[in-house]
Amino acid sequence: YESYNLGLGEPIPISAEHGEGMGQLYAVLDDTAQAFVDPFDEGAEDENESKALKLAIVGRPNVGKSTLVNTLLGQDRVLTGPEAGITRDTISVDWEWDGKPIKLFDTAGVRRRAKVQNKLEKLSVGDTLRAIRFAEVVVLVMDATNALEKQDLQIADLVVREGRALVLALNKWDLVTDKAQAQKDFDEKVERLLPQIRGVPLVKFSALRGRGLDRIMPAVELVYRDWNAKVKTSELNAWLSEMEQKHPPPAVNGRRIRLRYIAQTKSRPPTFALFATRTKHLPDSYARYLVNGIREAFDIKAVPIRLQVRQGKNPFVGSEN
Ligand code: GDP
Repeated sequence: YESYNLGLGEPIPISAEHGEGMGQLYAVLDDTAQAFVDPFDEGAEDENESKALKLAIVGRPNVGKSTLVNTLLGQDRVLTGPEAGITRDTISVDWEWDGKPIKLFDTAGVRRRAKVQNKLEKLSVGDTLRAIRFAEVVVLVMDATNALEKQDLQIADLVVREGRALVLALNKWDLVTDKAQAQKDFDEKVERLLPQIRGVPLVKFSALRGRGLDRIMPAVELVYRDWNAKVKTSELNAWLSEMEQKHPPPAVNGRRIRLRYIAQTKSRPPTFALFATRTKHLPDSYARYLVNGIREAFDIKAVPIRLQVRQGKNPFVGSEN
């Protein structure tokens, strides 16, 4: 109790030998480290390099990617192509939206440079993959008259598996006659075929007519914000105990599964580790309950959240209690 006199704040009682208090110590260190590191992250590198949002616009041939990019950039940048000397895999266009720097991966430009102009060409998997890997945010452009076909589903799944933030973009909305029905069908299909991308925003527009384009970049910003979200360990653990009180995990052979600790292990995309006992028996529905809870409680709704469940052997918490 003498340590209170130092005026350094709340002391943390620990036992190094018995591992007591390690969870609490870790939580405090984690919060402190995050608060300390962030300001340096921002300004450390070349301003533009570190701050430009890396964006890729991908989709099957003929869905209207070039039309969209040209309209967005307000000039024929794609046709002009990037400056000489840039290698094939780093074709990007520096752009600014609402005063913010954007680095756009130019797949259409890649194709034109490769002189593949045939409109019947197949989707270039290599270019798409390269664009996804380059990007932080991926806009998947689809043709509203035949959206969510196999390749669309594959690309959407790939984007999320690669840990990128996704925006679904439905182009050629001008060609859709029954818009209400089309929207309904689309929502139903997403729910059934892409449950892993729940919450990802959808933007409908006509690149040709220039209608609805103003909603694309705000959606990009939204997913980018959520993709970068950081939640304090202390807040997470307070939240976890509330969630556990509301709905305790089931008992296995009369012994309860105990949730010990949760921490965000990384952002971009937001990834959490939950330490618990008897994790083998933790039902998927309980993990979903927690993931949905995180989305609501910390307002991270536009990107999929990753939750890793680990047996409570974590060095920080394993030997507590
Ligand atoms: P990309 O292969 O994905 O780059 O597609 P393009 O931008 O080259 O467009 C393919 C075709 O679709 C072109 O004939 C465009 O004029 C047309 N297109 C693009 N956007 C729209 C749209 O919003 N509405 C309609 N009706 N046609 C469009």
